[in-house]
Amino acid sequence: MKFIAKNCIVFRDQTDCGACDEHCPTKAITMKEWKNREDGLRFPTVNPDICIGCGACEYICPARPDKAMKVMPLAVHGESLPPKVEEQVKVEVDDFGF
Ligand code: SF4
Ligand code: SF4
Repeated sequence: MKFIAKNCIVFRDQTDCGACDEHCPTKAITMKEWKNREDGLRFPTVNPDICIGCGACEYICPARPDKAMKVMPLAVHGESLPPKVEEQVKVEVDDFGF
């Protein structure tokens, strides 16, 4: 998984998003506070240790013409590390997006 910041609408258009974070099934994406901003904008960061390469973030990303999340092919299928118990969060998913 590769995050291309220049394509992300948070950086490019200075607007709120987070669709990738909402749709990531493993919570590999975390929206981080943008320092020195008072408007509360947050940008995504990816934890590669728990990304399973499913592509949900790329599919749902509204950035056009180029997505800001890109799944990169691997020569060998990877495995997500199990989350630490204290990091497990129950997430309500209203719609999976695809
Ligand atoms: S590829 Fe899937 S698991 Fe990885 S960050 Fe995107 S939505 Fe999450
Ligand atoms: S869905 Fe795309 S545009 Fe929106 S925050 Fe995530 S990477 Fe940026």
